Amino acid sequence: MKIILLGAPGAGKGTQAAYITKALNIPAISTGDIIRNALKSGSELGKKAKSYMNEGKLVPDEIVIDIIKERLKEDDCKNGFILDGFPRTIAQAEALDSMGVEIDKVVDLEVDEDLIIRRLTGRRVCKDCGSSFHMSMNTPKNEGICDNCGGTLIQRKDDQLSTIMERLSVYKEQTEPLKGYYEQKGKLAIVYGTNDIEQTGKDMLAAMKD
Ligand code: AMP
Repeated sequence: MKIILLGAPGAGKGTQAAYITKALNIPAISTGDIIRNALKSGSELGKKAKSYMNEGKLVPDEIVIDIIKERLKEDDCKNGFILDGFPRTIAQAEALDSMGVEIDKVVDLEVDEDLIIRRLTGRRVCKDCGSSFHMSMNTPKNEGICDNCGGTLIQRKDDQLSTIMERLSVYKEQTEPLKGYYEQKGKLAIVYGTNDIEQTGKDMLAAMKD
């Protein structure tokens, strides 16, 4: 199955992608994670993307389109994949179409904006393995320490309030129109992401089979 996860930043796409990966045994591909890793490694891609990402803006289409083109060529994508955070603009969706990628379903994860803001401002991520925690909704066993690898938990630069507001406005302007784009193609399913992780995951799997 080839799936796109749509939804505002903080809607829980990454968490759900991890859930669906296990259930369907297909890889989750997050352009955000790929760019963050490039940034950490100091690669050319990381250097180009840094300022956009830190300001909550979208990285230019041609850069992310190239990333996806390369990633989808890898062996593990043969039986399908979940795209988390791509496409984010109509131009990116059109590029995916012109690569000949046949998407089965686009699942839009809807969450109220005030919950999104609470989720993102409280989010802390492990600086080593990228695992995600929350200061009140999903606390680590030891404050500031990753349960998975013992690394230090930090706040992503783009999870600071002013950047969150910018990311939400970029989402509304540039990414939300994708709902109409995929609805017209008969591929859109909407799931409300306010339940717990397990229930939302089940709702998403059900929506994919419709
Ligand atoms: P995410 O982890 O998906 O919230 O992505 C973090 C940041 O990476 C975004 O705010 C953008 O700066 C950049 N990014 C990730 N995916 C894309 C994309 N498909 N198009 C443009 N920028 C992206």
